[in-house]
Amino acid sequence: MNQNTSLPKTGTQIHNLRELEHDPYHAQRKFKEPMACPGCGAIYQGGRWQWGQATAGADQHRCPACQRIHDRCPAGFLTISGDFLAGHRDDIHHLIRNVEQREKSEHALKRIIDMEEQADGALLVTFTDPHLARATGEALHGACKGDLDFHYQEGEFLLRVTWTR
Ligand SMILES: [Zn+2]
Repeated sequence: MNQNTSLPKTGTQIHNLRELEHDPYHAQRKFKEPMACPGCGAIYQGGRWQWGQATAGADQHRCPACQRIHDRCPAGFLTISGDFLAGHRDDIHHLIRNVEQREKSEHALKRIIDMEEQADGALLVTFTDPHLARATGEALHGACKGDLDFHYQEGEFLLRVTWTR
């Protein structure tokens, strides 16, 4: 698996990744502890959502990831296109799910929202977290080479990643 954590050279807009820390889905709401998400079971503790055992009497409140999934409001997009996809569809699906499993186990709010085949044959993957979109793109690039690019809109908690081979 690709362990490269340095900033990618493509898509210079991404240098301002600190902006991506401000997730409006998190900042808008004042979560008080203890709290548990009725959708996924994540708990809010120590100032962050994480996996764990909810304390008795914890307030029930949908976590930001479940809220994004409910609203169908992704914070990350990964578009996969090119001839390579057609011949390696299962492998690519597998790789994407592996990255999600790895990241989600550490960070409860990093999840895939959906994987959709587009009319033009491309695969569109949507995420609850822009960093997961980036990690997935980098894992694809690390495993299969190809062309990876990032498009980040300044001031928005949103990352668009494209990978083509
Ligand atoms: Zn949840």
